[in-house]
Amino acid sequence: MKQIRLHDTYFSLYISEDQIQERLEQIAQELNQTYLDKQLILVVVLKGAFMVASDLIKKLSIQPEIDFIRVSSYEGEMQSSGKVRNLLGLETDIQDRHVLLIEDIVDTGYTTSYLMEELGKKNPASLQMFSLLYKPANLKKGSPPDYIGFEIPPDFVVGYGMDYAQLGRELKDIYTRVTPPES
Ligand code: 5GP
Ligand code: MG
Repeated sequence: MKQIRLHDTYFSLYISEDQIQERLEQIAQELNQTYLDKQLILVVVLKGAFMVASDLIKKLSIQPEIDFIRVSSYEGEMQSSGKVRNLLGLETDIQDRHVLLIEDIVDTGYTTSYLMEELGKKNPASLQMFSLLYKPANLKKGSPPDYIGFEIPPDFVVGYGMDYAQLGRELKDIYTRVTPPES
């Protein structure tokens, strides 16, 4: 099994580039249908979703507008928490517009439930969410994404935009943390 090391931690191949691209093709076709006669605004959550957004967008046949947001968070925080966050960077007026939020991963759901609430306050005509990965066992707040790439167990993953302490974002595949052998 292909393994990589980031900092002091080992990860093994979990979802391949081919699997990701095949799934994104299916999602793109669904979105092409859903938003066929609507002007879609894609709101990409940086940093983690930059790669999946780029690949997904290239597979669409509709012509979306694209904007980017960030969520302020505490540097180096390993575990998700319900702490206060801020939505930064949205430049598009989304009132009465059709909006799709693009995320890399929904874990506890705190981040996306906050973002969906904040975006909802701006009165979009419709508001949906796509997340490449979703950990159903960890969901504590909000709803599951409307479009899901892959449901995964509650393990820590990296690659394809997602980092471990800022490393691993460039990887074409998704890797999962190797559990150290019991001693
Ligand atoms: P939530 O608020 O849903 O608990 O977490 C959302 C954010 O936590 C994601 O956007 C991502 O930045 C980070 N996160 C959650 N799980 C993972 C994971 O397994 N790997 C990485 N790299 N980030 C994760
Ligand atoms: Mg994210």
